Amino acid sequence: VLLYHRVSPVADPAYQPISPDDFEAHCHFISSNFRVIPLSELLGRAREGMSLAGYCAITFDDGYRDFLVHAWPVLSRFQFPTTHFLLAETVRSGTAVWTYRARRIVTCGHHRAKLPMPDLEAMGRADRERWLDAKELELGDLPELPAMLRPSDLERFDPKLVEWGSHTVSHSMLDRVSLEEARAEIDDSKRALESVVGRPIRYLAYPNGRSSGAVQRLAGEAGYEAAFAVGQGEVCSGTPMFAVPRVDVGDIPLPMLSLEVSGVTEGVRRLRRLLAVS
Ligand SMILES: [Zn+2]
Repeated sequence: VLLYHRVSPVADPAYQPISPDDFEAHCHFISSNFRVIPLSELLGRAREGMSLAGYCAITFDDGYRDFLVHAWPVLSRFQFPTTHFLLAETVRSGTAVWTYRARRIVTCGHHRAKLPMPDLEAMGRADRERWLDAKELELGDLPELPAMLRPSDLERFDPKLVEWGSHTVSHSMLDRVSLEEARAEIDDSKRALESVVGRPIRYLAYPNGRSSGAVQRLAGEAGYEAAFAVGQGEVCSGTPMFAVPRVDVGDIPLPMLSLEVSGVTEGVRRLRRLLAVS
């Protein structure tokens, strides 16, 4: 399962997108080496113990609007089914995800002010928002925030090709916040997004791929069919449905993509781990 975030021709120090040309090159490579199938079909094959060799699924996280402008024209030309994991809060408000805002402060504000960053990941959502609002006000003229997908944008995609999933309400790190907050992020986002898109939200992607046993149980209790991590590994018949691995390939050049999906890089990593312990 491949993971992308942003596709844009505009360089951005706070979050470097893959260019539309490079994304198209990725898609060419993918189409000549894999059959791209919907996430539901991939998981179905895994659950039934069928072979997954030669299959892949494409996912996007975070709900940047460049998905509509730069990724969708390519994806629809290739007729690649895609699952995009949205944040209920960015769809509602249009304000960029907090991790982007924090990176913008670090990359664009650090030369103007000493910036001891608090542990934003461990903060509750309300405290985190207050800190970001205050810091942005203090720093003043930061570069504009990227646009996010809004409810009216979501209607513009072919529902046969794009499925929406949940990436929580506000991208809180579920393994760092309290279990009550994690539960609210997981439950409320499902309900809110279902009311926006008018279809069941079947899948959850943990922010930064991070979860715990307790968080995975919450995802099951909330009614999701599966939930996604980030990390190396292919989906196979034994893959736990609430910790499905995805490979983040959104920032790697094409030669690396071919090594990554062919398992060569994973082989090298395993070998290095093996050598490190022996
Ligand atoms: Zn994310």
